[in-house]
Amino acid sequence: MEISTRLATALATAPADRLLYDLDGIEDQYDRLRAELPGVRVRFALKACPVDDVLRCLADRGAGFDAASPAEIVQALGTGAPADRVHYGNTVKSDHDIAEAHRLGVRTFATDSVEDVTAIARHAPGARVFCRLATSGEGALWGLSRKFGCAPDDAVRVLATARAAGLVPAGLSVHVGSQQMTGEAWQQALDTLAEVLVALHGLGIVPDHVNLGGGLPALGYLDRHGNPLEPPLDKMFTVLREGMERLDALTPAPLDLVMEPGRHLVADHGAVRAHVSRLTRRRQPDGTDAHWLYLSCGKFNGLYEMDQVTHRLVFPGHRDATDLVPAVVAGPTCDSDDAYGGGRHPLRVPRSLASGDPVWILSAGAYATSYTTQGFNGISPLPCVSTRAPEGHH
Ligand SMILES: *Cc1c(COP(=O)(O)O)cnc(C)c1O
Repeated sequence: MEISTRLATALATAPADRLLYDLDGIEDQYDRLRAELPGVRVRFALKACPVDDVLRCLADRGAGFDAASPAEIVQALGTGAPADRVHYGNTVKSDHDIAEAHRLGVRTFATDSVEDVTAIARHAPGARVFCRLATSGEGALWGLSRKFGCAPDDAVRVLATARAAGLVPAGLSVHVGSQQMTGEAWQQALDTLAEVLVALHGLGIVPDHVNLGGGLPALGYLDRHGNPLEPPLDKMFTVLREGMERLDALTPAPLDLVMEPGRHLVADHGAVRAHVSRLTRRRQPDGTDAHWLYLSCGKFNGLYEMDQVTHRLVFPGHRDATDLVPAVVAGPTCDSDDAYGGGRHPLRVPRSLASGDPVWILSAGAYATSYTTQGFNGISPLPCVSTRAPEGHH
């Protein structure tokens, strides 16, 4: 995966560390998704990138938002997106959260339990609810399986309870796990959705939408050994298109299809400009020598997901370097987890790296700001800067 000229220029001209977002790239990614899945309503999962410029550019393109708290709802509405394009997608919420969301104008809520449905009926009377089905999480780098969702028969019970409580049993949702790497996960989820839809129809409950969640992958990550991850995105889109047609054909009324991508829209269009603190060579506990490359950016200021994915690194002053050494790459804090792959999988880096040299950390646009800590070891969050091509050059 190559980065865009826009992003490369912004990285090359950045005078200090920062997190950069390429808004044109994010818009193109959104347009591509809409072209691959015609008719799908996109509700961007805010938590993947709660950066106002990014949210506004998606909202201007027609996206809505999957918000997980009243504060996220406020941020989503701040883009100018109307409240009917924002849903409360978190199954975990207090009475106060529900009442607050309702007061802010949100009318559609995720749920996965009778207790939550009862609370929604009390604090957001008449609201629309969609029930999240559990998935195995298999095939995903982050499974999200245990905390959320219910079994098919429980989903039927939850939506029947919603109807009885005066709510609108409006839909079903799934999340197949974040950075899903297989088409089969979607296939399985679609099979379950079809089964539950049929059961609901048998009770006279006809949901008006199905929400296929997030999970679509970024394309630019490396695995622990430094090889590209290469998720089969085309296959996923084929499975999704066919599945959506199948669900639509099952339903007596038109069925809206919703997706809540987070990572897929932003990951590859954000990058960090950081710098080298030091390249060292140190004796390890096992007696061998190893190079460690310390960078100004690590697990707690932008690369929280470094245990699961490795980001491509570019050393712009050393592009033609042939003298490479295997090095463990680590962040700046006094935490031993703040190292790539737990310190077991070295990457090859130029031997000539010097303190202060810039480094570009690619595909860092997802979950960077939201997982950043505040002031750990005195390290401030990276400033966020968004870039766009000059008018007419896009
Ligand atoms: C986090 C989340 C998403 C986005 O997940 P990605 O893997 O980033 O696409 C979508 N829906 C819900 C309910 C989420 O919690």
